[in-house]
Amino acid sequence: MSARDALFEHTGRDDIILPFQIDPYGLRGRLIRLGPVVDRILGRHDYPEPVAAMLAETMALAACLAGALKYEGIFTLQTKGDGPISTLMADITSAGEMRAYARYDADRLAAADATAIAERSVPRLLGGGYIAFTVDQGANTDRYQGIVQLEGHTLSECTHSYFRNSEQLEAGVKLAAGRVATADGPAWRAGALMIQRLPYQRDLPGRPSEDEYDETWRTAVTLMSSATAAELLAEELSPDQLLLRLFHSEGVRAYPPQPVADSCRCSNVRVERVLRALSAEELADLRQDEDVVVVCEFCKREWRYDDAALDALRADDEPPGF
Ligand SMILES: [Zn+2]
Repeated sequence: MSARDALFEHTGRDDIILPFQIDPYGLRGRLIRLGPVVDRILGRHDYPEPVAAMLAETMALAACLAGALKYEGIFTLQTKGDGPISTLMADITSAGEMRAYARYDADRLAAADATAIAERSVPRLLGGGYIAFTVDQGANTDRYQGIVQLEGHTLSECTHSYFRNSEQLEAGVKLAAGRVATADGPAWRAGALMIQRLPYQRDLPGRPSEDEYDETWRTAVTLMSSATAAELLAEELSPDQLLLRLFHSEGVRAYPPQPVADSCRCSNVRVERVLRALSAEELADLRQDEDVVVVCEFCKREWRYDDAALDALRADDEPPGF
């Protein structure tokens, strides 16, 4: 088994992006099922329940939107707000490697009322701010960026306002996340369902009328919205069963799933590049006891450098001959 295969050991019913099509009008959709990936990522952090839940939703949403775009590189979804949860950040590569973290103010979160927490209220927990969607395809390529204000009560509603403003994507989305019972005991899971309306093609033979197409789209959105959080999260309900349950009357077929893996891209090369660029004062801020310590915000991996190691790597940076 190669290293890459090992990343995707859970390929199957969980940790997948499952593309599907609703016949006969060819509406495209994606079902996201995240199990061990989201549980492991959250397990490295000690986030309060609402932070973990909203970050799990963010991961499901990132997988959903990334699946709707054709790109080679990294798709990033990030919220920035002035509420108790200041940042939710998830990114996923076109190969399906996902990572995520959140920033929050514990005191302000503890003061939030129970209703806001139960509802995972965007206005009350994230506050005023924005969601940014970025596609980075590497050096020398354009970065695509979409930004919308945090307008809506939930992350799904905020995404709908992005769709309304987007010329590229007309879609509906439903998100769910929670710590639920599984065969291995309670675990975090997340799910998402998205359907995407493609432009009506007038010229294709055998196409329905535009009115019929509109009607099919509205029906599909209604059926999608009827999915419950329990259905999106249930480990025992297979993705195929869920799609059939929702869209059976319209006709639905799934394509091969794309796996999602828990994988961070941090490396000693990246850490050392940062360390070389820091000033002496900035390095001093990273000191713990005798060592300079760098912790990856995504995966909590820790790198330690003593003075000898630091001198060596900063000396490396000097041009030859000095
Ligand atoms: Zn990392």
